[in-house]
Amino acid sequence: MLKTIEDLKNLKGLKVLVRVDFNVPQKGGVIRDDNRIRAALPTINYLVNAGAKVILMSHLGKIKWKEPDPAKIEEMKAANDMAPIAARLGELVAPVKVSFSKATRGEELANAVAGLNDGEILVVQNTRYEKGEEKNDEALAKEWAALADVYVLDAFGSSHRAHASTVGVPAILKAEGKPVAEGYLMIKEVDNLTRCVEVAKEDRPYIAILGGFKVSDKIKVIDSLLKKCDKLIIGGAMAYTFKKALGQNVGNSPVQDDQLEYALRCVEDAKKAGKEILLPVDSVVTDSFEPVEGRVIKVVEGDIPEGFQGVDIGPKTMELYKKAILSAKMIFWNGPMGVFEQEEFQAGTKAVCEAIKDLEGKAFTVCGGGDSASAVKQFGYKASFSHVSTGGGASLEMIENDGHLPGVDVLR
Ligand code: ADP
Ligand code: MG
Repeated sequence: MLKTIEDLKNLKGLKVLVRVDFNVPQKGGVIRDDNRIRAALPTINYLVNAGAKVILMSHLGKIKWKEPDPAKIEEMKAANDMAPIAARLGELVAPVKVSFSKATRGEELANAVAGLNDGEILVVQNTRYEKGEEKNDEALAKEWAALADVYVLDAFGSSHRAHASTVGVPAILKAEGKPVAEGYLMIKEVDNLTRCVEVAKEDRPYIAILGGFKVSDKIKVIDSLLKKCDKLIIGGAMAYTFKKALGQNVGNSPVQDDQLEYALRCVEDAKKAGKEILLPVDSVVTDSFEPVEGRVIKVVEGDIPEGFQGVDIGPKTMELYKKAILSAKMIFWNGPMGVFEQEEFQAGTKAVCEAIKDLEGKAFTVCGGGDSASAVKQFGYKASFSHVSTGGGASLEMIENDGHLPGVDVLR
């Protein structure tokens, strides 16, 4: 079985390399939301209290290495400097000492690690400053592995990527017989999402709610959920691909014509399996996606007229979906019901949040996906869910791959 950090004994004085997910939204060092830093605190505090020397590594943002102009690479690096994140962590764990290593490898980094006292923390500069990180470069992984006696993965949001810091390092340490383990955030995420793919009897009826933008982004999620759930509720832009596939007129709604056949097959397969797929019976439509003055916004049932596009589920659909949601014992939700970034089109997504709030204490409810989770937080419903995943892509990959993630698999 997978070792958790609580299985790690006698950590005092050991160098513990923790891969965390400090990829927070920030600009110029001003952090908009420090949730991801806070989410790693249980693991960090545990290790500090155990007297370990804690080395934290994370990526931040993107460095596009294909960029030919070295000056632009330096600009991208500067925009994704980890130093302000280390400073924020320092505030959160005070009076524990947090130092920062500007170097991502070499003697300077080794010296910084050697200078750690028991119970102190070293934050290493953005792992993506190294070109080899995303390629899982072996020499880089070896160098990082050599810094540590123990490896802990707590970066759920990065664990679907086989990079040097998420997969390369633990593979090497494990081969050397050194302990590798999951942190508290990983354990919580993996346990909750596994429950949505290894469905227990008492968690039925299991209802999946899917929305968001593209069918093509979600094919593997839809396939997996259709196998596991009892009912599938579809909203968001992807609903229009399904509606068009069923022969309805969707006006100028965003449709993926190359997915019509797939959508039809889903509906037919679901019917054969005795599962219901719910699609919107009415929509909020507009003649302009851009929030220009004087645009027409209205509710239509059935066919959407030319010149209009569906941007949210309508009031009848909200009632229909709410009623269905209230019959569930377990919910997995990915993808907003409408263009929730615009106030006029938030009602559908909020209605789903409200229904899930009504299920509090009566069902196990999970939200996964980058935009969905941020909508839930933005509308103030996070506490109403059993679990809101911190990992967008990683939570979807867990659903797609029956609970498997590269970062988790390497630890097992
Ligand atoms: P997640 O990140 O939760 O997996 P997606 O990335 O698939 O979700 O989709 C989120 C995006 O889908 C949001 O930006 C939202 O505006 C958009 N969206 C939802 N419904 C519609 C719609 N009817 N028309 C256009 N965009 C939509
Ligand atoms: Mg998204």
